[in-house]
Amino acid sequence: MVAKRPRIVIVGAGIAGLTAAHRLRTAAGDLLDVTVLEAGGRLGGRVLSSHFAGDRVEMGATWIHGIDGSPIHAVAAAAAALSPDPLHPSYERMDGFPAAPVTVAEGGGVVPPSVVDSVSSFYRSLMDSVKEGRVPATAEINSVGSFLRTSRSAVTAAGDWTLEAVFAMNENTERTYTAADDLETLDLAAESEYKEFGGDQITIARGYSRVVEHFAAALPEGSVRLNAKVVEIEWCDAADGDSPARVHVDGGGREEEVVVADHVIVTVSLGVLKAGLKKDAGRGSAMRFSPGLPAFKKEAIGRLGFGVVDKLFMEMDGEDEGFPYLQLAFHPDRHVGKIPRWMRRTASICPIYGGSRVLLAWLAGAEAAEMEEAEEDDDVIGGVHATLEGFHVGGGGRRHVRRVRRSAWGKDPLFLGSYSYVAVGSSGEDLDRMAEPLPRGGRSSLRLMFAGEATHRTHYSTTHGAYFSGVREADRLLQYYRYGSSC
Ligand SMILES: Cc1cc2nc3c(=O)[nH]c(=O)nc-3n(C[C@H](O)[C@H](O)[C@H](O)COP(=O)(O)OP(=O)(O)OC[C@H]3O[C@@H](n4cnc5c(N)ncnc54)[C@H](O)[C@@H]3O)c2cc1C
Repeated sequence: MVAKRPRIVIVGAGIAGLTAAHRLRTAAGDLLDVTVLEAGGRLGGRVLSSHFAGDRVEMGATWIHGIDGSPIHAVAAAAAALSPDPLHPSYERMDGFPAAPVTVAEGGGVVPPSVVDSVSSFYRSLMDSVKEGRVPATAEINSVGSFLRTSRSAVTAAGDWTLEAVFAMNENTERTYTAADDLETLDLAAESEYKEFGGDQITIARGYSRVVEHFAAALPEGSVRLNAKVVEIEWCDAADGDSPARVHVDGGGREEEVVVADHVIVTVSLGVLKAGLKKDAGRGSAMRFSPGLPAFKKEAIGRLGFGVVDKLFMEMDGEDEGFPYLQLAFHPDRHVGKIPRWMRRTASICPIYGGSRVLLAWLAGAEAAEMEEAEEDDDVIGGVHATLEGFHVGGGGRRHVRRVRRSAWGKDPLFLGSYSYVAVGSSGEDLDRMAEPLPRGGRSSLRLMFAGEATHRTHYSTTHGAYFSGVREADRLLQYYRYGSSC
C-alpha cells in the first residue's frame, strides 16, 4: 500500500512562497505533495525585473540590503546573476556618477554642498540614535516623526528655508525606505529591532527575477499554478478538527475549484490580508478565511502598517545623456510654478547609472498613490517637466522626458501596497503573531500557516525577510514530519 503523501498548498508565488516550496522539495523530495497557487500570471510577486529604454530596471525589489549574510546574495551568486550579461550589460545600479549629488532649490539655485552635508549628517546622527535604541519612547515621543519634529528646531531656528528643506528631503528618503507615509505613524521603539546586514548594498546585474527563477527551477513541472486566485480557505471544521483544509480557487466565471490540503501556507501581502478583514469584502474581491481568523491574528493584521512605495522611470531625449544626480529641496511654504502635489515629497531624480538616459524617482505614501491614479502617462510627463522647470533644471525646456514607466503597487489588487512597517500602536510582537500557525496549540496546529515579509520580526519589508519566513514555515513542516529541518 502506498502511504498518502501530506498535501501542502502554498498561496502566493513570491519569494516567501517559492522559498518554502523550494525548501520542502529539496529536503523531502516526492514525500510531500506541494502545490503553489498564484493569482497572477507570473512568478515573483513584488520582485519584477523589466526593461525600459534599453536598460534593465526593477519595478519592485531593487537592492540586496547588505551582502554579508544575505541569503538573497548567496542565491544570486549561485544563480550567476551578479555579473552583467555581456549582451545586455546596462542595468539599474545607481553608480558611476561623475560627481556627487547636486541639491537644487525650488525656484532656482544650488544649495551649497557644505549645507547639505551638515544637515544630512545631523539627520543621520538622529536616525542612528533611534536605530541603536538610544531614544527612549515616551507618551509624547513615540514615533520616528515626533522625535524628528522635536529635534528639527536645531535647523529651523537658523531661519534659512534651505536647511529645513534639506532636513525634509532626508525625511522623504526615510518614507521610501520604510513605506510609512507619515513618519509620525512609524513606531519609535520598533526601529531599533529592525536588523540590517553589513557589507555593500548592491543591485542584481541580471535582474532580481533571476533569484525567483532559481527557486522555481527546482520545482517539479505543474507544481506552480498561475492564474489560480484563492478566494477562500476553509481551515477548520468545527465538527471535525482533523478534517483537512479546503482551498477555494476562483473559477473565472465557472464553478470554483476546491483543492484539499493538510497544510496551507499563506504568503499574500499584508495589504491583501487587511483587505480581507474589511466588513464589505465580498466573495472574490479579497481572500477570506472560514472560520474567520482569531482575534489575535486579526488585531495584528489591523495594527501593523503597510504603505505604498512606487518607482517612476523616465526616458530622456537623446541629447540628454549626462543628467546629474539631483536632490530636490522643496520650499516649505512658497510653491513655484505648476509642480504637482505628487512630486512635492520626491527626494531625488537621478540616472539609474552614470550616463544612462533613464532617470528614476522614488515616491511614497499619498504622493505615490496619487501618481498611480494619473490616467495618462502624458500627465505624469507634464508633472515631471513642471518640476524640472520649477527647479530651473535645464532651462528653456531642453530637458525633455520622452516616456515614463511607473509602478502601481498600491492599486494592484494582488498587493494593495508595497511593504510593511511597525506602526504606532503595534510592536514587534505583532510580527510574531503574524507568523503563528493556526489553530493555536490545537491537535492539527499546522493547518493554516503564514509566511511573507510581514511575518518576520527583524527583517520585515525585505526580500530576505520573505526568504527567511518561507524557510521558517517549511522547516516547521519538515520537523512535524521528521524529515529533518536543519538542511
Ligand atoms: C517598489 C518596491 C521596492 C522594493 N525594494 C526592495 C529592496 O530594494 N530590497 C528588498 O529587500 N525588498 C524590497 N522590496 C520589498 C520586497 O519586494 C518584498 O518584501 C518581497 O518581495 C515580498 O515577498 P513575499 O513573498 O512576502 O510577498 P509577495 O511578493 O507579495 O508574494 C505574494 C504573492 O501572493 C499572490 N497573491 C495575492 N493574492 C492572492 C490570492 N488571493 N491567491 C493566490 N495568490 C495571491 C501575489 O500575486 C504574490 O505573487 C520592495 C518592494 C517594492 C514594492
